[in-house]
Amino acid sequence: MSIPLLQVNDLKKHFPVRSGLAALGVGRKRLVYAVDGVSFEIARAETLALVGESGCGKSTVGRAILRLFDITAGQVVLDGRRIDDLSAGALRPLRRRVQVVFQDPFASLNPRMRVRDIIAEPIRNFGLAKSSADLDARIGALMDKVRLPRDTVNRWPHEFSGGQRQRIGIARALAAEPDLIVCDEAVSALDVSVKAQIVNLLQDLQLDLGLALLFISHDLAIVEHMTHRVAVMYLGKIVELAPKRNIFSNPKHPYTKALLSAAPVPEPGAVRQRIILKGDVPSPISPPKGCRFHTRCPYVFERCRTEEPELRPIGSTHLAACHLHDLPPAQNPMAG
Ligand code: SF4
Repeated sequence: MSIPLLQVNDLKKHFPVRSGLAALGVGRKRLVYAVDGVSFEIARAETLALVGESGCGKSTVGRAILRLFDITAGQVVLDGRRIDDLSAGALRPLRRRVQVVFQDPFASLNPRMRVRDIIAEPIRNFGLAKSSADLDARIGALMDKVRLPRDTVNRWPHEFSGGQRQRIGIARALAAEPDLIVCDEAVSALDVSVKAQIVNLLQDLQLDLGLALLFISHDLAIVEHMTHRVAVMYLGKIVELAPKRNIFSNPKHPYTKALLSAAPVPEPGAVRQRIILKGDVPSPISPPKGCRFHTRCPYVFERCRTEEPELRPIGSTHLAACHLHDLPPAQNPMAG
């Protein structure tokens, strides 16, 4: 059996709170449990969508994989090799293999660099071009891949629209010849029609180049179009993980069901019964005991308040973390 391209094992990232008395060294040190035991795998050429409300920890997972900071605990394994504990020097050749496309195409490109230099930077940094002619050929091919005219390569970022800038960001990511791209809300800041174009481009590139994508998004309508599997996060944990069709047609976690009920319905005239969750998302500084969703779950029962449910198989390819699945089917509203 081939090993997954990426394995994330029990990943934790806890940030110290830097405000008020704690920042002055007075009182108890407090932590934000941004990511608190997350595990998943991504195969080559696969898209895994990481979804959830703002603040659930999904972007922190992406940044941990990119080694933008040290993790608190757990492992990040790329192609069978652990990368979370590598020194900067040892990590350098592996950095090429995992690239990122950020949300904001206006902030993520250096305004003082021409497009040509933005795309050339990773090619030079990783020593990929054999000559200046090879560098030019690579830049031209990347402009073609992201469907930007080659003759715009000497322009500045501010001369492009938001969608075009995101294409430049994708070209920059592709320039490193990665195996995996972390798309961190990569289409969230774009207009609806531009969003669809960028999603189509990412899908085409994935097929063409055999890329794996970690698609971090809060937008379930987009996710439904472009992913193979979906991991749903709530307060620093994955609560459900399954192939896309299972998640969208037969969710097994009450939180996923509520999220889906709030997403736009693709068929005109179709009606989806909206589930309104009570209360706010609790603070990741003091997550609730037991099931973290119990303060908002419409199906909460006594066990949920004291015992944390594990993410475990509910069917051959479907994982969910919910005590309801220990009840007889007739008493389980998420059965079926
Ligand atoms: Fe709701 Fe309990 Fe399931 Fe948590 S474990 S999602 S509170 S039913």
